[in-house]
Amino acid sequence: MAQADDFTQAKGFSEAAQAGMLAHQVPATPENYAVWYAYATGLLPELNRTIDILISNQQEFTQALNAELYSRFCDTGRHFNLLNETGGRLQYAVDQVMRYIKSATGDANAFGKTLDRYSSDIGGAPGDEDMRALVTGLILETQRMAERNRSLEDRLSASSGEIAELRQNLEVVRREALTDALTSIPNRKFFESRLREAARDAIESGEPLSLLIADIDRFKQFNDTYGHPLGDQVLRLVARTLTDSVKGRDTPARYGGEEFAIILPQTRLKDAVGLANQIRNTIMRRRIVRKNTGDDFGTITLSIGVSCYRPGEPLLQTVRRADDALYQAKRAGRNRVVAEDALAAADQS
Ligand code: GH3
Ligand code: MG
Ligand code: MG
Repeated sequence: MAQADDFTQAKGFSEAAQAGMLAHQVPATPENYAVWYAYATGLLPELNRTIDILISNQQEFTQALNAELYSRFCDTGRHFNLLNETGGRLQYAVDQVMRYIKSATGDANAFGKTLDRYSSDIGGAPGDEDMRALVTGLILETQRMAERNRSLEDRLSASSGEIAELRQNLEVVRREALTDALTSIPNRKFFESRLREAARDAIESGEPLSLLIADIDRFKQFNDTYGHPLGDQVLRLVARTLTDSVKGRDTPARYGGEEFAIILPQTRLKDAVGLANQIRNTIMRRRIVRKNTGDDFGTITLSIGVSCYRPGEPLLQTVRRADDALYQAKRAGRNRVVAEDALAAADQS
């Protein structure tokens, strides 16, 4: 029965994917099919948001745009292949090292036996001639052993170079999986793990930990008026401004479509509000200029909610208070910063 359900469901997704491609004149290549199938399932909310925006802007699905959608949302193969290849090469490198060690052990044993033989020969009170032959033989054997050790050292050092390179591959995969493709800053996944880590540190050190959540004001209108590509440029600009506004220990991240967050360890609520206002001021003064034409599209503004972690509470609550404060900033007219301590007051008034 479950199989029949799966079949019916997949058939539905497949038909929806084909209808979508037909309606928007997207060629039915395997890559495009993967994109539109994923769109039909709704399993990648970010992909759905992006396609919905493109459709509502009546954007043409050009070959370049289709390729971009595929590589941004569906090309899991790249990571998979890199991981697979890295795994295989790592296995080979480890096997290689094991073989070297085995052969080195064999060499050392053989050398030991040779020395034993010479030692019993010496025990038989040899004459001058024999002694000379013995010493020459010993020198030769020792040189051979030294030579083998040198070549073992070279081979081990080549293997360790290879293993270091593979570690870098894994680091690339890890970094890409935690980075937002559009803005190149940490994505939500990274944000969540960093926030957990920062909360642990805050409990241990007793230092305060603050959180900002920022949302671009009336961004839908901006996209609808000037188009999605310029909207993307604005998202990159905001990401860059956040990154430039914080210190090394702070973590800015793209939290959602046009929402950003910053984790601020060792920062009191009051100081986080100060930073939020500084960022808000920087953004509202920055003019949006189209790179290739120099056209000026005015400015955008940010609303920001700020909360402070209460040691021991579920992190969801810290995030919720920042979210509630952000919502309050929107209700109060946008382009402003609201902190969690203003929430209760606002509710009572
Ligand atoms: P508010 O001031 O209440 O936040 O209004 P808003 O229009 O910013 O909020 P709303 O949630 O109605 O719309 C968010 C918009 O953000 C929808 C979409 O146009 C835009 N957006 C989300 N993700 C992306 C993206 O990746 N690229 C672009 N260009 N726009 C995006
Ligand atoms: Mg929003
Ligand atoms: Mg918004």
